[in-house]
Amino acid sequence: MMAQNKKDPISAPLLEVRDLATWFPVKRGLLSLTAGWVRAVDGVSFIIDSNETLGLVGESGCGKTTLGRTLLGLEQATGGDVLFDGRSIPAMSRREMDRLRRHIQVVFQDPLSSLNPRMNVMDIVTEGLVQFKMVEGSRQEHAERLLGEVGMGPDAVYRWPHEFSGGQRQRISIARALSLKPDLIVCDEAVSALDVSVQAQVINLLLKLQSDHRLSYLFISHDLSVVSNIADRVAVMYLGRIVELGKTADIINAPLHPYTKMLIAAVPVAGEKRIIPEVVYGEAPSSTDPPPGCRFHPRCPEAMAVCAETSPAEVARDGHRVMCHLF
Ligand code: SF4
Repeated sequence: MMAQNKKDPISAPLLEVRDLATWFPVKRGLLSLTAGWVRAVDGVSFIIDSNETLGLVGESGCGKTTLGRTLLGLEQATGGDVLFDGRSIPAMSRREMDRLRRHIQVVFQDPLSSLNPRMNVMDIVTEGLVQFKMVEGSRQEHAERLLGEVGMGPDAVYRWPHEFSGGQRQRISIARALSLKPDLIVCDEAVSALDVSVQAQVINLLLKLQSDHRLSYLFISHDLSVVSNIADRVAVMYLGRIVELGKTADIINAPLHPYTKMLIAAVPVAGEKRIIPEVVYGEAPSSTDPPPGCRFHPRCPEAMAVCAETSPAEVARDGHRVMCHLF
């Protein structure tokens, strides 16, 4: 059984990612020869414990969504390993993988495209229960219970996705993810398309569900201010690598990596003008041809000569990791 010992403090982490790489070939010419690789995820390691939220933050194109999709089995890893409850996912048989899908669920950014418009809400939120033969009693009862968990009334059961607001549709997506009693939910930009007030409501809902069900989240977002409202720890990703990882308070109040400082500078403060990071720091290079040395060096205000030549090693102290020659 998956994650049966998750409350044991000496057991393996719920999820352990070891030196994970996900590369995509760049094909060129009539013969479609491989001319290079997009190194979307390029040697990433972290753990997520039971009942923990890890925030994964970075600019668009940094590889965070590909990382989430690799963990879900939607992309094939090029290298490294992913252990769920101590067991290697790439080494699992097809049957084991099917069983694993129950334990890792996902909430996507755009619920309108991820909810089948031809299915009513009852069918959407109980589809997984039927697939895994977990329906006891009527589907309607299950649907009403799940909708209640996400703050929606039973009147929603026979309605259709297009009848709801963006926030309500995201609640339906969360109910669907919750239906199989998962251990881990990957939230991929799950609140990015919502108004600020609705974002706060959905984040409060996720926090309540975590407390009620001992859930773990990988919360992926480009917005550090949103991540800081939900995450226990934050991993900062730049061009396929995690450049800093630590407790949320440490990342926000005492960031080490110049890129993390750049993301914090981009967070709007009430009454102050927002600093547009692209204007100050330039645009991110392509992950097809990342710069030599430190990948951030062309944009880094603290770059030294060594930064253009040598890739910095990761250093860690008290669980705070950083990849930068300054440390
Ligand atoms: Fe900046 Fe050098 Fe640190 Fe990279 S290694 S973030 S270029 S100081």
